[in-house]
Amino acid sequence: MTRQRRAAPDAIRIGTAHSRPGQLTYGTFEAVRLPTGEMDAFPVIIAQGTRPGPVLWLTANIHGGEYDGLAAIHQLLAPELVEQLSGTVVAIPTLSPAGLRTGERSPYYLRGKDPNRLFPGLDFDGASNAHHPSALEIAYARLFEHIRATADYLIDLHDYGISAIPFAFRDPVIYRAPREKAAAQKLQQTLGAMLDALGLTVVNEYVSDEYLKMNLHRSVSGAALNTARIPAVTVEIGGQRMVNVVNVRAVVTGIRNVMRWAGMLPGPRETITGVPVLDLGYPVRRTTHPRVPQACIVQHLVQPGDRVQAGDPVARMVDIYGRPTGPDDGLLRSSHDGFVIGLFPGIAFYPNDAILGLAIRDNSELIIQVSQR
Ligand SMILES: [Zn+2]
Repeated sequence: MTRQRRAAPDAIRIGTAHSRPGQLTYGTFEAVRLPTGEMDAFPVIIAQGTRPGPVLWLTANIHGGEYDGLAAIHQLLAPELVEQLSGTVVAIPTLSPAGLRTGERSPYYLRGKDPNRLFPGLDFDGASNAHHPSALEIAYARLFEHIRATADYLIDLHDYGISAIPFAFRDPVIYRAPREKAAAQKLQQTLGAMLDALGLTVVNEYVSDEYLKMNLHRSVSGAALNTARIPAVTVEIGGQRMVNVVNVRAVVTGIRNVMRWAGMLPGPRETITGVPVLDLGYPVRRTTHPRVPQACIVQHLVQPGDRVQAGDPVARMVDIYGRPTGPDDGLLRSSHDGFVIGLFPGIAFYPNDAILGLAIRDNSELIIQVSQR
């Protein structure tokens, strides 16, 4: 018996966008009905090749002030890409139309909640899940069913801060029963290969208990990975409220390299240029460090991408007159080896405020068993 070979990619419909082999198609996915009668809708772009292949989802701008992902999608999804493409790219340029309009992290109707913690996720603490989901959470749940049904890979695009290197977050894979461990390991390995292909600096997410406590398994990529078991990463491209052209170009190159790894594009891997790519030879995770012991004005002494060793000064603390405050001539030192992900904005800091995003050695497990209830 001969195996039937598919000649064309599978048809995909997301809202009003219907895939057509060899074309870019556009549409909308109805999201949040507004009291004024209009509808907030997610824009949908489907880029489909003429040959069968995997389906890559690209999502962006769930935090409304983070524009680089939107710019990356616009740059990537050109007619020339489609000519070479095997398989399909589904892109959502904004997951928060209201946040995009105002340039705010949260849409005004979510009242300060983080939209990137509202994707469907398992209930790990066994507490009652009864709540009153917002309209946006319900819309994300509907969109998530399309992701679950169609995606082979997902990349969710963000911006870390005004002064930061581009990097990818690696999430842990969660499992419950011991018999699920091997599959969890395999999923984490595939994720590792996908990150290698991406070719950016990789930083592990917060360690396991914090990951769950902070509901990171309900971020877009966390839910794709841990709820739908789809290899998925968050990429932090650059600074907020502006487009960082060099970083966007580097990340688009990385995404094309992921597509080559996945068999969606031909040709050799492209070199990423213009941005630092850091690898200390051991895994790192994100932390916020160091913190100022007193109210002060901070003079940063390091730049994003700089390597630091424990004991190195990373900032000087001065008073409003510019005189060093505290012992050690006002120097604030790192307690860890690592590298600077990004500088926290501003110069006026309060006691226990962190001044940097720092990547430090990570000894935690990348697969986590959680108790079954
Ligand atoms: Zn973000």
